[in-house]
Amino acid sequence: MSELNKRTKLVHGGTRRSQYNEVSEAIFLTQGFVYDSAEQAQARFIESGPDQFIYARYGNPTVAMFEERIAMLEGAEDAFATASGMAAVSGALTSMVKAGDHVVSARALFGSCLYILEDILARFGVEVTFVDGTDLDAWQNAMRPDTKVVFFESMSNPTLEVIDIASVAKIAHSVGSKVVVDNVFSTPVFSNAIAEGADVVVYSATKHIDGQGRTLGGVVLGSKEYIRKTLEPYMKHTGGSMSPFNAWVMLKGLETIDLRVRAQVTCALAIAEALQGNGALDRVIYPGLKDHAQNALVQTQLDGKGGTVFSLDLKGGQEAAFKFLNAMQVAVISNNLGDAKSIATHPATTTHQRLSEEQRETLGITPGLVRFSVGLEDADDLIADITQALAASQA
Ligand SMILES: *Cc1c(COP(=O)(O)O)cnc(C)c1O
Repeated sequence: MSELNKRTKLVHGGTRRSQYNEVSEAIFLTQGFVYDSAEQAQARFIESGPDQFIYARYGNPTVAMFEERIAMLEGAEDAFATASGMAAVSGALTSMVKAGDHVVSARALFGSCLYILEDILARFGVEVTFVDGTDLDAWQNAMRPDTKVVFFESMSNPTLEVIDIASVAKIAHSVGSKVVVDNVFSTPVFSNAIAEGADVVVYSATKHIDGQGRTLGGVVLGSKEYIRKTLEPYMKHTGGSMSPFNAWVMLKGLETIDLRVRAQVTCALAIAEALQGNGALDRVIYPGLKDHAQNALVQTQLDGKGGTVFSLDLKGGQEAAFKFLNAMQVAVISNNLGDAKSIATHPATTTHQRLSEEQRETLGITPGLVRFSVGLEDADDLIADITQALAASQA
């Protein structure tokens, strides 16, 4: 299986068949597992093999299939599936640090990630330094001998800055720090994060892995040593494991993720190009456009693919942004991303509402900013819809 290409692994990787030899992966909707004898139960609690399960919080056959398949896609030794993307982020970070440690993080973060770093870790005596993730000198200057973890979103939400994984990893490793990358916006389809030096890669599976807006989930990927010795004990005792049903949804999502995400990226680029020079806009932010500040990095790090999300900065601030959202006929107003349905959101009043006005200004989250997650609709329909809604925004 390891010599096969990604598309093949996404369809067949990790499959475990029951005694019925089913084609489609079975959902093992069970909390527990029966032992043949008291001695077997005792032995399993001492050490359990890959097909020996104890309790669904520790592991489950359907969840294990998902973990194996996503690990193959990412090129990671192992994976642990979690109840949500935030369970993955908080588990990855919290399992690695203790009071007195130092963490360096990019400043541009998903709101809940920022809460973990700024509020929770600080409360437990972990010091966090925030830097501009695109500034390699800032990373270098923030490193200390006691820096244990470096954390960043490889493509930030919602302003879509792209961070140089290989360069930041080199800086972090020079002081012995581990590198944890939240890779949602880059998507597992285009990720080479482990090869580029990330020690741990985290996804919200809720986004492109499900891809049809049904279930919450997350996954942490890394070395076998880290996943089984550091993360698994933390996750299985704190309760953030993925449910078998959700793992089944994610497993089936992986079968189509390559096709879906590539179609979404092609469509996102077509829309971003069509909106160039639109009079209602101050800016079109899309990493796949040549004028994006990190487009050169997108070419090397993401195979030239700018992702499935673009952001628009509308002339006329919040009023224009709201008129735009309310005028859309095809895309829906919601806050998920990576869905089959195109979704638009106004970060300043929703996902990033909790931030102070200064924080939003530093991050470039202006009152006129709209984030648009491209779905699987026809590109011409989306361009026509966005164009009419932009015209309505200025009326
Ligand atoms: C959505 C998201 C998360 C959180 O994922 P959930 O599945 O909603 O818990 C974390 N990081 C990024 C970058 C995200 O987009």
